[in-house]
Amino acid sequence: MNTFTVPRGTSDILPDATPLWEALEFLARKICKSYGYREIRTPIFEDVNLFKRSLGATTDIVNKQLLELVSSQREKPAESGSNGDRIFLNEYALRPEGTAAVVRSYLENSLDKIEPLSKLFYIGPMFRGERPQKGRLRQFHQIGVEAIGPNSSSPLLDAEVITLAMHLLKELGVKEPQLKINSLGSKEDKARISTWLRGELAKQKERLCPECQARFERNVFRVLDCKNESCKKVVASLVKDLPLSTPSQEYFAQVQAALNSVKVPFEVSPHLVRGLDYYTHTVFEITAAGELGSQDAVGAGGRYNGLVHELGGNPKVSYGAIGFALGIERILLAIGESSVPLSGVAVYIMAMKEEYQPLAFLVMQLLRKSGISADMSFIGGSMKSQMGKADKAGARFSLIIGEDEVKNNSIAVKNMETSTQESVALGGIVEHLIKVLSS
Ligand code: ATP
Ligand code: MG
Repeated sequence: MNTFTVPRGTSDILPDATPLWEALEFLARKICKSYGYREIRTPIFEDVNLFKRSLGATTDIVNKQLLELVSSQREKPAESGSNGDRIFLNEYALRPEGTAAVVRSYLENSLDKIEPLSKLFYIGPMFRGERPQKGRLRQFHQIGVEAIGPNSSSPLLDAEVITLAMHLLKELGVKEPQLKINSLGSKEDKARISTWLRGELAKQKERLCPECQARFERNVFRVLDCKNESCKKVVASLVKDLPLSTPSQEYFAQVQAALNSVKVPFEVSPHLVRGLDYYTHTVFEITAAGELGSQDAVGAGGRYNGLVHELGGNPKVSYGAIGFALGIERILLAIGESSVPLSGVAVYIMAMKEEYQPLAFLVMQLLRKSGISADMSFIGGSMKSQMGKADKAGARFSLIIGEDEVKNNSIAVKNMETSTQESVALGGIVEHLIKVLSS
């Protein structure tokens, strides 16, 4: 018989692991909110052109990793008629990252009219057609933030966003996250530096790896962070610091001063660039040790002021925008935990005969209505096997309904920790448990 398996590059998060995810997400929400960020939830698929336009046609994500939704129908139906409601999936892609969708939503919902600065966060799955390996999945999860607003470019906001990323990682249990920052300068700086870099690299083209030879025309910044030894040498001989304009240098200096003032340690790395076209000025990446291997980046981000215009923002307004995304699976690898055993319910109810099960069911529901978490064995079985289940459920008390109890209108209450047992009148069972559970 054929069996099914989870799609390659994805994984199930099983009940033993969900408590850890829940705790992580809870903590992340709490910390983001404490910095004044509010949660936004966008669809997991969007118009494919949103990603093509925002991420840049030459980027790896768009070129190689976009998971487009396809339908077998290629023709669009006539404008009206019975087929008019069909969804044409091939116009969509699963989201590979969060920023483009957040900016789309920001503009579509005119958030700039509602608040001077939108400080937003999201938690959710992202999708990329990668070659799966440890820490590199096709469905993975990110915690991300974006701060977007008219005239909101402030080096202090860059520092806030970076500080929040580091704060989150530390609180989530990542030991000694390493922060690298760089500035790509303004849009004009970037254009000027690209031309200069392209010219310089062209002179040493044969020393570059085949991939860089192919991409230095299209996406010259990527050569700067190529891992190939020969490329690294070429780059090291060319670039000590990126030749930024004076205002860009000053902006970057203020970001660094603000980080120093709140004691966030960092290293300036002049070869750090990000894979996406939309970044200008500050970019950063955070790595961690642990079981990450070569996939050691737990998060990354940067400033992307130009993207808001690119996606249709009012040309008369000068927008500022900065954000980051942390990879939850990589955080879990860094902290070296994938699950925590956690108690399931406070009370476990066992019926000693099948005919007592309806009574067990009734008591269970009474407890739940009073706010006490409860479960029962729907399968029954011996006292020993049911006690085993109560243990596994992490119950603090088990309730036993046997022949004597039914005769006396009572229930035996066993404290699972001390193994002491007492008989409690059926009518007073809820009050009794409320009392003992709160002590
Ligand atoms: P990498 O260099 O590792 O491919 P990236 O530059 O593609 O990362 P971003 O797009 O900046 O990563 O995403 C931010 C974070 O999301 C990464 O630092 C990483 O923690 C996580 N991440 C990205 N891609 C994946 C993936 N395929 N599987 C698991 N986590 C990922
Ligand atoms: Mg990648």
